[in-house]
Amino acid sequence: MTKPLWAPWRMEYIRAAHKSSGTGKRNCLFCRLLRAKDDAKNLILIRGKLGFVVMNRFPYNNGHLMVAPNRHVRVFEKLKPEEGRELLDFVQLSLSVLGRDMKPDGFNVGMNLGRVAGAGVVGHLHIHIVPRWLGDVNYMPVLADTKVVSEHLGKTYARLRRRFERS
Ligand SMILES: [Zn+2]
Repeated sequence: MTKPLWAPWRMEYIRAAHKSSGTGKRNCLFCRLLRAKDDAKNLILIRGKLGFVVMNRFPYNNGHLMVAPNRHVRVFEKLKPEEGRELLDFVQLSLSVLGRDMKPDGFNVGMNLGRVAGAGVVGHLHIHIVPRWLGDVNYMPVLADTKVVSEHLGKTYARLRRRFERS
């Protein structure tokens, strides 16, 4: 029997499908977050010269982060080398912060490129980082409670933000 490929960030598709419209910059979630100034409200953990790290508001797992370029770009091959380097730096930094803070047993790291692949925000590429714990498939029903999620997100954000600032 073959095991199915487990890509938890595909949940993004289910949850974001109803509100995503087109691939333009104007309605883009990431561009909106970048333009706004309130990083705490928008769960932005760190801003770089070319990219940034933000917590997923609809997490599959606690600690689900996304790394995205500042530039509105859909095609991964069109990233400039320096953008690619900063995104990878942020992936490494995120893994290191999450590893120290949450002690997960593993991580899923990946991208959904294109609607058919499950991308919720199609026009602006982003890398998902999802910490995984043994047995965490049972975790979702807990996080499905919206109130629990937002309280949880706020606390986790404050803690992770401090770690990013110290790094
Ligand atoms: Zn964008």
